[in-house]
Amino acid sequence: MKMSKKPLPISTICAWKTRIDPTPDYQRPPAWSRKQKQLLIDSILREYDIPKMYWRAVDRDDGVKYEVIDGQQRLRTIWEYQAGEFALAKDTDPVNGISCAGTKYADLDLDVSTIFDAYPVDVVIVDDAVQTDEEDEVRDMFLRLQNGTTLKAQEKRNAMPGQMRDFIKELATHQFFENCKFSNSRFAYDHIAAQMAHLEIAGGPASVRDSDLNKMYAGKKTFDPSGKTGRKVRRVLDYLLRAFPEKTPELERYNAIVLYCLSSKLIESYAYAGTEAQLANWFISFETKRRKNETLDEEERDPQLIEYRRLTSQSTDSEESIRARLEFIEKRFFLAYPNIEPLDEIRMFTPEQRLAIYRKDDGHCQLRTKCRGDRLTWHDWHADHITPHSKGGKTVVSNGQVACGPCNLAKSNRVQSSLGDGA
Ligand SMILES: [Zn+2]
Repeated sequence: MKMSKKPLPISTICAWKTRIDPTPDYQRPPAWSRKQKQLLIDSILREYDIPKMYWRAVDRDDGVKYEVIDGQQRLRTIWEYQAGEFALAKDTDPVNGISCAGTKYADLDLDVSTIFDAYPVDVVIVDDAVQTDEEDEVRDMFLRLQNGTTLKAQEKRNAMPGQMRDFIKELATHQFFENCKFSNSRFAYDHIAAQMAHLEIAGGPASVRDSDLNKMYAGKKTFDPSGKTGRKVRRVLDYLLRAFPEKTPELERYNAIVLYCLSSKLIESYAYAGTEAQLANWFISFETKRRKNETLDEEERDPQLIEYRRLTSQSTDSEESIRARLEFIEKRFFLAYPNIEPLDEIRMFTPEQRLAIYRKDDGHCQLRTKCRGDRLTWHDWHADHITPHSKGGKTVVSNGQVACGPCNLAKSNRVQSSLGDGA
């Protein structure tokens, strides 16, 4: 990698606009405020030093082009000011005694616009042959340059070379993200895709804060995107896209994450084929109800929906919050569609189904042969097949009920003797 430093007048930087690519894939998107832009131009007109830029020379078919490694915000600001896209602040002090408050480039006094045109920007040109190793080297340099600035966590991760980074980048182009409410500003899709991959690797709710994701990027440099976990993440996103084939404004960030967890579970442990429409219908009616609940008078509101709202508004990346939200939605989903069957051959109700059954019967024994429908604690009840599975009853919530030990034992003795097994 060769580097050369040269001062380029702003007039040249503007004339070269078509030869400069301000957003190669390790760069961050535009994010400066109007005020920051005005300050930069103000500094230039007063001939203060501004930080140097780093460009990388790339040989393309149509000649040498420059990719901006560092300095994109400054570069865009200079171009935008020169193109008349914004004016100086209204309280700008005169430059060399000449007033220029609230002035656009085209209206500057000639003496002042000459200062702008001639201002020398220090540009370091990085010259390298395009090789994979060199790509990494440039990204490393970008990381070093950005260290200590306000670069957001996901932007830093996008500059961390490795197969996990590449896998997430590709995942972030999945159409499902386009159908969510949030936009891809500041790499939101990459961020959420990374959280989903992390949850898949963890096998369920887990902390998905930036520090956890950084560890995943650093620790899985050799992640195999076509391995079991990589394929599973893609299957879940495909499933979600079939469920939500068009823009769905209810899909906020915090919802997308728990719907991912629920869908991952459905695919893992249930006969999930054809459940996409059920998931979408349930989710949209749930969100509609939840939103309506917010508009009610305080005493009419459903406190559980308020609690869900609370869970979605604080520490949403913590394991606790994700677990609580998932339990909240999966209980309701399985109650709404009690015929969704687990793949489990041994015909045991899953923990999610057990919870839905327990809540459905409010913990009371439904058999009432040896008791009077006693209420049982969570640790002391049996999930009974209403129609026994030996008689073709399915292991679905609608065929499940709460039973106490004595009633359950009496029933299974009866079933067994009726089947002629002897008891
Ligand atoms: Zn009982």
